[in-house]
Amino acid sequence: MEILSHPSPPLATESCEVDPMNDDALRSLVERMAKLMYEAPGIGLAAPQIGVMKKVIVFDLSEDASELTALCNPRIVEASEECEVDEEGCLSLPGISVPVNRACRVIVEAQTLEGDRVRIEADGLQARMFQHECDHLAGKLIIDRATPEERKAALRRYREAQEMGARAGGNQT
Ligand code: ZN
Repeated sequence: MEILSHPSPPLATESCEVDPMNDDALRSLVERMAKLMYEAPGIGLAAPQIGVMKKVIVFDLSEDASELTALCNPRIVEASEECEVDEEGCLSLPGISVPVNRACRVIVEAQTLEGDRVRIEADGLQARMFQHECDHLAGKLIIDRATPEERKAALRRYREAQEMGARAGGNQT
């Protein structure tokens, strides 16, 4: 099992909600996702990036891969009006980054693997990561967030990177 690269139908399709209390496959899914995320290396990964159309994400923003978190059905319920444009990479678009405008702060509601409801207030890189991963669950990539000109330029850089056999690096999700 590998991380899918654009273009690939699962990356452009909305995933389905999961019921953590009644899905025996969730734990092994999360294990596979975590393994691929750390190998990449990345800071976050959404299930559709490995072709599994479930609303499940994993992430770890620690320096030493010590804070793995898995969430089911994450939803951004509040976003600050204050936004910030920053370069964003994606494990499904290896070799390029794209300037993406994101809310500086978000509140996310989700469920743990045990089915508990959680509410997380995030800012900075974590807020950006949540918006990026929730986009994946909705079938959206960073190029879909760019202006038409930026999208065109990003896809040209992506083709060039693929021809060069570039690998992802940095804060990839
Ligand atoms: Zn991504």
